[in-house]
Amino acid sequence: MALENKTHQLIEEVKLFIQYSVPENELQSAVALVDRYRNDAFIMRLFREYYSSLPEAREEAVVRIARLIDRQGVHLFVVSTTAFSYLYAVSADKTLLLGEYRKEVNAGVLSFFGFGSHEEFLKVCPSIEDLEEYVESEKELCAVCGVPEGEYHLLGCTVEICPWCEGQLSNCNCRFDQLKVDDIEDEEQLEKFIDLLTAKGRIPYQKTQAPAYPGTSSGLDDSEST
Ligand SMILES: [Zn+2]
Ligand SMILES: [Zn+2]
Repeated sequence: MALENKTHQLIEEVKLFIQYSVPENELQSAVALVDRYRNDAFIMRLFREYYSSLPEAREEAVVRIARLIDRQGVHLFVVSTTAFSYLYAVSADKTLLLGEYRKEVNAGVLSFFGFGSHEEFLKVCPSIEDLEEYVESEKELCAVCGVPEGEYHLLGCTVEICPWCEGQLSNCNCRFDQLKVDDIEDEEQLEKFIDLLTAKGRIPYQKTQAPAYPGTSSGLDDSEST
């Protein structure tokens, strides 16, 4: 329930930004596109980022969204207006404008997605006309870490269920019990726990798993995973 309210709030926010950033004749279609993706928290965050800080201050409505690639819960989306296309990275906690689509991208971003060079990256970037419009997948994404249904959450995700106690993995005490320690102090212990967890069998994301909103603070998130 809390999550629904949160998304609802986000949609209203996006629509408000649209009122201030889009010429009147594009208003209706801009809002319609937002409504079309209303169940997709990632796209809502993308819209909010776009409309709250218009790239190059160009006042244009989004006409199309395409999804390029995903890696470890980070998604590359192409946001198109009638005249321009922009590349955005969206993860569970961040939405970032990377620049105009098919233009030079930060090397760190490229290497995160496994590309050695801009040329290599361009090979997976279809021309704007060939970009396939993003259709909300039947697979729902975890609202917190963004993995699709059936895949493992990113470690530390507050939605992941503990295979030992069936509680919230990021919050329960099983990691200490399993490692027989009072505290996880280093990377080595964390890795050992991941091994134990993997051996036990992690529970992949199912859309019936409700995110722990509000109060998403969690042990793994706040300390051990850094
Ligand atoms: Zn998750
Ligand atoms: Zn547990």
